[in-house]
Amino acid sequence: MPGFELFGELEKKQVQEVLETGVLMRYGFDGMRKGQWKALELEKALAERMEVAHAQLVSSGTSALTVALASAGIGAGDEVIMPTFTFVASFESILAIGAVPVLVDVDDTLTLNPAAVEEAITERTKVVMPVHMCGSMADLKALKSICGKHNLLLLEDACQAIGGTFEGKPLGSYGDLGCFSFDYVKTITCGEGGAVITNNEKYKMNADHYSDHGHDHIGKDRGAETHPFLGYNYRISELNAAVGLAQIARLDDFLAIQKKNYTILREALSTIPEVTFRRVPEGGEESYAFLNFFLPDEDSAKKVHTALGNGGVDACFYWYDNNWHYYKKWEHLTNLKSLGKLPQAIYDQLPDYSKTDFSASDHWMGRTISCLIKLGWLEIEVQERAQKMADILQEVWK
Ligand SMILES: *Cc1c(COP(=O)(O)O)cnc(C)c1O
Repeated sequence: MPGFELFGELEKKQVQEVLETGVLMRYGFDGMRKGQWKALELEKALAERMEVAHAQLVSSGTSALTVALASAGIGAGDEVIMPTFTFVASFESILAIGAVPVLVDVDDTLTLNPAAVEEAITERTKVVMPVHMCGSMADLKALKSICGKHNLLLLEDACQAIGGTFEGKPLGSYGDLGCFSFDYVKTITCGEGGAVITNNEKYKMNADHYSDHGHDHIGKDRGAETHPFLGYNYRISELNAAVGLAQIARLDDFLAIQKKNYTILREALSTIPEVTFRRVPEGGEESYAFLNFFLPDEDSAKKVHTALGNGGVDACFYWYDNNWHYYKKWEHLTNLKSLGKLPQAIYDQLPDYSKTDFSASDHWMGRTISCLIKLGWLEIEVQERAQKMADILQEVWK
């Protein structure tokens, strides 16, 4: 996945162009910037690549989620449905606007189970937030139909699956809003950065203002602009945007490398009868950022994970109990440990997750192993890795 592995001349050239003008801010300073508008250019390139009308760059993937929710008018006490398996940014972004994260089971897609989503809907539910974890997607067709039926927003977190598609559409563009992260370990990186994409003009305008203190961005005098509503500062800098501009030009090359490496590893693992693969919903194509597979049970998954580590196969994750991407490790959320007082609606409405039954999620996550697909591997290295993985797995069942 990580685009930083292939950081090079293109990135340096883009950054150098910004350094030459010295204008590191994305707004204003028109005279000094000599026609350099890196953030604007990247927004244009991203919207084009993702086949949407609008893209709004922000400072991170987490702030992209916050800005996306805020731009659609989500606020205190609104409920947002999110999966039990995701990065912590999901609930952080929801809590940041005073909304309530409602955790829902994942299925063998390792993303939201549509039937469980439907069961979790209340009169306060406003948003369904599928997270396309580890390179593959939620059943967006089913989720969209549920959202249509209950008049809910579909907000896709595509931070870990940029470049994947569903029914031919880029992930992130299928719902009402989509979010990407360009942090240092994502498929393409800005160092730090993120983006919201949408076809909705109102959401784009709101995101544009909200992410810059509510500035209306009308005219050429920043100091004289009006502020139609409250905002914050989630701006990206021109330096970060410049890196992203170089990286997005390479996205399709990166995806091709991921697919090639993934395919070699998958073919090797396909020879092991005990191994099955994560389900990709019909109509979906992965970004191939990870290879995700199931073992028959929790015991064998643990054994395989340990054996891979001992055998020197790095970057394979067992999320179930050794990582903070699964609800079991979110005590700070379930106990609402915050530095200061949170909005009252969160105390009143957050479900008691110590009593919630997520055994359906446990069933799948307990037997899942995810291996990161790197961009920098040589083909011979991938082949050696594939052989090693197959050997180690065979050994477990001897
Ligand atoms: C990385 C990530 C984010 C947050 O991105 P940052 O840029 O690190 O804030 C959100 N969701 C998922 C699924 C991610 O992997």
